Amino acid sequence: MTVDTSVEHWTKSWGSNLALSHCQICDGNFIVPLTLETDLCPYCGRAVLTYIDEKEDKPAYIYAPEQIIPFSASRDSLQQKLTQFVKKSWFAPADLTPQNLSSRLQPIYLPFWLVDASAEARWQAEVGFDYQIVSHRENYSDSGWQSEKIKETKVRWEPRLGTLQRRYHNCPAPALEEHVQWRQLLGNFRTESPQPYQIESLEAAMVRLPNRPPDDAWPDAEASLKAAATAEVQQAAKADHIRQFRWSAAYSEQNWTQMLVPIFATYYRDDDDVVRMVYAHGQTGELAGQRRASLKKARRYAAFIGIGAAFLFTLSLILAVIGFFESAVLPWAGMGFMAAVGLGVTAVFPILIAYSINNFGIFTDAHQRRLADLQDAIWE
Ligand SMILES: [Zn+2]
Repeated sequence: MTVDTSVEHWTKSWGSNLALSHCQICDGNFIVPLTLETDLCPYCGRAVLTYIDEKEDKPAYIYAPEQIIPFSASRDSLQQKLTQFVKKSWFAPADLTPQNLSSRLQPIYLPFWLVDASAEARWQAEVGFDYQIVSHRENYSDSGWQSEKIKETKVRWEPRLGTLQRRYHNCPAPALEEHVQWRQLLGNFRTESPQPYQIESLEAAMVRLPNRPPDDAWPDAEASLKAAATAEVQQAAKADHIRQFRWSAAYSEQNWTQMLVPIFATYYRDDDDVVRMVYAHGQTGELAGQRRASLKKARRYAAFIGIGAAFLFTLSLILAVIGFFESAVLPWAGMGFMAAVGLGVTAVFPILIAYSINNFGIFTDAHQRRLADLQDAIWE
């Protein structure tokens, strides 16, 4: 497919009052409403978006989508989840507040492909049928021999081959390099009731343009078609299993539909002024955000505990001096010293906790690992 990047074409297909923007860090191209003021790339949070010339910069794919899945997460539940996110953050940096996350929420649409294609194929596979065998096990105990019935399920495999000639509809294929990482982070989207794309459906949302045009995404679409065919063959054979499905197919009349799905992006700045991203699913409102603890705050807590321990230590010292004259006080001095040492040791905990959140989060928290995978994919 050739891409026509003339100005007339892209504004005609998308609608007016939109700008074509680019982020140098994540290398993303975006369609942004002119009314939208963004100081940072809402997709990666690392650079300022710049307007680009579609003739010179030639995005991989610039056509408007055919279908759009609108935002359906309620503002209230989203707000609640943002508040929860902040509450659950140990030693939250000063910038991490529900108000900041909420006011910086940016709706973004992500693209993916739905492919229709006609396939004419010869296939072969092994289909498997479950059957049960019954055997007996004889056990001897004090009460004598006892027979135990054992049911075992086995699979009978049969080779099959045939031809297949049909049209497939809406086989999904990724339009973004980082497609898999997005799905792993936020989960799938309900796509049963799409709306046709209109400029009005964007409102304040920006749109990520595909970085995998149809030519590039075709191998994935083909895999998706093959998976559909595999399921059909299994169903036709009324088999419980299928393996080693091979087919040689000729495809024709491919039709590509671009569909947009909704997400939110927001951010906060950590102690070092680094932007940390928080993303949300546009339908379920489920959040996935980077967690960073403030070492400054943790040190303050540690200092408080340290001061408490020092105070207790001084008090115990005074009691010990008094105990020199009045021995009944001595046990109190001893307990005071022990409590001071105990409290002193716990003073390192805030720093240890903050340090482990910042440095070991990706090993202990699945969300942090998926966010790291997504960022690797975006910045590659
Ligand atoms: Zn970016």
